[in-house]
Amino acid sequence: MIILRVFFSILRLLFFIALFAFIWRVVSVWLKKIAASGIPADREPHIRSSTQANGSPMITGKTVRDPVCGTYVATELAVPLTRPTATVFFCSEDCKRKYQSVKS
Ligand SMILES: [Zn+2]
Repeated sequence: MIILRVFFSILRLLFFIALFAFIWRVVSVWLKKIAASGIPADREPHIRSSTQANGSPMITGKTVRDPVCGTYVATELAVPLTRPTATVFFCSEDCKRKYQSVKS
C-alpha cells in the first residue's frame, strides 16, 4: 500500500498548498485594505495644497457677461480678448471668434 501512502502525502501537500494560497489571498486583501485606508489620509494634504497652489478650482475673481451669448463666466475660466478700450471675456473660443467677426 505504498501507492496509497504516496497518494495521501500528495493530497496533504496539495491541501497545504491550497491552504497557503488561501491565507496568502486573505493577507494580500488585508494588506490592500490597510494600504487603501492609509493612502488617502496621507495624500489628502497634498491634494489640498496642490489645489490651492493651482488655484483653478477656487474662483476668486469677477463674473463677466459674454457679449455674444449672454452667459456669465468667471474671468479665470473665460476666454479674454484684449481690446484698446477694455478686455472682453467670452465663454468659449467660438464666442470670441463670433465677436471678432462682427466687430471687424
Ligand atoms: Zn458665449
